Amino acid sequence: MENFEQLFSILNTEAQKETEGTYLEGLLVALEKWLDGDLHVDVHNLSKEEIRKAIQIAILKGMREGTQPNHQMTPDTFGFLLSFFVEQSFEEQLQAGQSLNVTDLAVGTGNLLYALMNAFDGKIEATGVEVDELLIQLAAATANLLEQPVELHHQDALKDLLIDPADAIVCDVPYGYYPNEEVALDYELCAPEGMSYAHHLFIEQSVNYVKEGGYMFFLVPATLFESEQAQQLHKYLKKHVWIQSVIQLPENLFTSRVHEKSILVLQKKSATMRAPKEVLLAKVPNMQNKEALAMFFEKVRMWKENK
Ligand code: SAM
Repeated sequence: MENFEQLFSILNTEAQKETEGTYLEGLLVALEKWLDGDLHVDVHNLSKEEIRKAIQIAILKGMREGTQPNHQMTPDTFGFLLSFFVEQSFEEQLQAGQSLNVTDLAVGTGNLLYALMNAFDGKIEATGVEVDELLIQLAAATANLLEQPVELHHQDALKDLLIDPADAIVCDVPYGYYPNEEVALDYELCAPEGMSYAHHLFIEQSVNYVKEGGYMFFLVPATLFESEQAQQLHKYLKKHVWIQSVIQLPENLFTSRVHEKSILVLQKKSATMRAPKEVLLAKVPNMQNKEALAMFFEKVRMWKENK
């Protein structure tokens, strides 16, 4: 068995010992016991990625068994792709050894954020916001086990936040209507009638909490620019940001058209920078096809050279 499988097996056994609550609650107890030295994990040379993967499999198991619709985790494929776009956007800073402040306003279990932090280990300090208590506790325990520097805030991310503007935002944005109409009134993207889209408000809140010239990497519904509020969104984006890239993801990653997502990369406008010559519109090929994937990455690099 590989290291991460051995670790998963230990966590899985321990999580199931907690028969009072759900599997995810049992998993949280197991992670906390491990942190406190009360759970013996006899697996040698565990890497941060092996720890993240083992916890990820356990959380996915718990989410499959549970019935909470907001309990969703961002799969590794997206973490891998977002890491590539972050690397392209911050290549010079990362190569110069500068660290980045990254915020995820819907951090959930932290899987997406920690995939990124592990990919650039030691170069990212992060902030995460999450409204769900159990998910943020899992995110906190995982961050401690990974020894990744993360400040977590348990609150509604669309309310005022006590966080500093970040160099970059990453976010698998929650999709659907935002129930708090009073808070929505503070947003330019508040719907003129009826309830506002949470995914629109999350984009605006990201613009509020990123530095000028900073980048935002979103996983958004593929239909983002097709809704009846799309015009309002276009107007907002034109005013505040430069759209860098809109990347379609392969259909085979999703169970149906309604669940399809795209990667949207934005840059907050800055007086000292300029817009890209053209927006990168591209489609990620089937990721099993290594040659096609390598060509896709090359296309992005060429766009970056000429932008
Ligand atoms: N990237 C996360 C991960 O890897 O686990 C998953 C993100 S999931 C698609 C969206 C998350 O947004 C959910 O965990 C949900 O609880 C959270 N969420 C929804 N509305 C929120 C709000 N108003 N403020 C903060 N978090 C919110």
